[in-house]
Amino acid sequence: MHDSLTGSLNAEGFVAHLDRAAEAVSKSGKPFGVISVDISKFQKINEAHGYAFANQLLCLVAQRLALILGGRFSVGRLGGNEFLLLIEELADKRELGEVLDIVRGAFSHHFELYGKRLQVEAYIGALLYPETFGNSEELIAQAHEAMVTGKRHNKNIYLYDRDSSPWFTMDMAAEIRRALREDEFQLHYQPRIDLKSGKVLGMEALLRWPHTKHGNIPPTEFIYVAESSGMILPLGNWVLSQAEKDIKTLESQGVIGLNIAVNLSFKQLQDLAFCETLPARIKHWQYSQSQLEFELTETAVLSNPELVKATLTAIHDMGIKISLDDFGTGYSALVHVKEFPISVVKIDKSFVQRMEIDRSTHDIVESIISFAHRLNLEVVGEGIETIEQLDALKSMGCEQGQGYYFAKALPLDQFIDFVREFNRVDTKQGLKT
Ligand code: C2E
Ligand code: CA
Ligand code: CA
Repeated sequence: MHDSLTGSLNAEGFVAHLDRAAEAVSKSGKPFGVISVDISKFQKINEAHGYAFANQLLCLVAQRLALILGGRFSVGRLGGNEFLLLIEELADKRELGEVLDIVRGAFSHHFELYGKRLQVEAYIGALLYPETFGNSEELIAQAHEAMVTGKRHNKNIYLYDRDSSPWFTMDMAAEIRRALREDEFQLHYQPRIDLKSGKVLGMEALLRWPHTKHGNIPPTEFIYVAESSGMILPLGNWVLSQAEKDIKTLESQGVIGLNIAVNLSFKQLQDLAFCETLPARIKHWQYSQSQLEFELTETAVLSNPELVKATLTAIHDMGIKISLDDFGTGYSALVHVKEFPISVVKIDKSFVQRMEIDRSTHDIVESIISFAHRLNLEVVGEGIETIEQLDALKSMGCEQGQGYYFAKALPLDQFIDFVREFNRVDTKQGLKT
């Protein structure tokens, strides 16, 4: 099942892994990515340095790919200078994009062999299954085709694009504009629970797009298009206005004092108009600003530290809390974060979910929590799905939790029912301290 030169999987082995992965998707629903990596100008390397040298290079590439990608991946080589990667249990296309950046990063450092340094370039093609589907042989061919198309267009990374994927080909930015105009977006709320008292103390507003033709389009599929097309600004404004309306409805129904967290894109932070109009916007709220929270990813915060620091300080001075979203997936540098007016850290769901099966992840989460506490930050555990995850977080002193174990993001009326029910019962499922 293995390639005798590099130790990677051979064709037969890789196909077997793909077959197994496709079966796993039908159970877990989590997509996988297939990535084709082609070492560019390999023939030249062969001619210039010789056969043994080129072979050794392939071994180093295989080794490096296996090293940077870790346990969730299979590396295959079907002969020649093309590698195949399989990455399982992806959350969405955005995560595949992050993996592709890592793969590209593997070629940003030179390789050293026989006392020589060599800078190697690679073309990378990819697809997300089951968005792109087919049997294992077809998937390999499609990933290869994507890589070749990228090469032809001089693009280092290219995602396989097929007509059967409805929202991949439609003009998404125009669709977002239309959907805004036709009031098609919705805001749902996922409760955030105080793990000590076992009460709902707030909620996170999450965008939902029930597209009239294509059904529900997940935010991970359209937020990045909104960001790159500028549509995130009107969309983000819509989210804030809707949240404001919903808060008033909540209060009129007697559900008071909850914190509301709204996700902000880095594009909004970089937009002067957004920052300038924010005070006026939130003055309308007639709601304590201290109950409003903005969630930002660490990558957004550290992408342009100087500008972001000024904006965040202004937001903080308005009395709005700032939380660091998806912590653990980006730079993971709480030390840097200390310089920003941040009060909450949200531990990414991938950590919470890996904690049980992986001792080192457990230890990482524990140290993130204790370090966050030393910096006077509150900690929210995200993506809690099981009582074991909940208990582990509680024993580590994590203050708040969010996840399907409690509830998914719910439409406002269902959210109100949930809060009433949840806060009424004393012995919440497993929350008794
Ligand atoms: P996020 O801010 O990390 O939001 C949490 C995501 O995790 C949500 O996905 C939520 O439904 C999901 N989730 C919550 N609990 C669990 C759990 O127990 N298990 C699992 N597997 N998942 C859980 P969703 O709603 O698909 O949103 C995805 C991302 O889209 C958000 O990630 C956020 O980055 C972005 N997003 C959503 N709404 C907005 C918005 O209004 N503005 C901006 N800029 N981004 C948004
Ligand atoms: Ca969030
Ligand atoms: Ca998050």
